Amino acid sequence: MSCGKCGACRIAPSIASTLPNMPGGKPAGTRGANLTDENLCRLYGIGARPAFCYGWPPLPEVCGTTFEEATAKITALDHATAGKTCTPPCRPLTQPPRPQET
Ligand code: SF4
Repeated sequence: MSCGKCGACRIAPSIASTLPNMPGGKPAGTRGANLTDENLCRLYGIGARPAFCYGWPPLPEVCGTTFEEATAKITALDHATAGKTCTPPCRPLTQPPRPQET
């Protein structure tokens, strides 16, 4: 699946780590401070992108077919994983971004 660039994964989830222009992380449901007006990420490809974002592939079960559907699915995932940490065999978060991501 290629990314539809709806922007839901850049708004709906919480990000616990520090990221540029958001030193305390990003609360769920908040626009990332590094988004363009089109919900694209200005950090893409410059190495300052949070590790969280590298592990976020476009998947039908996460993205759905609309921004609203993706937001609902991602919000549910965020709630389900609140306060939890990743334990092996989690997907590595250091892999390079996929070509279709922006
Ligand atoms: S990965 Fe999915 S949720 Fe994120 S911008 Fe692309 S289509 Fe939207």
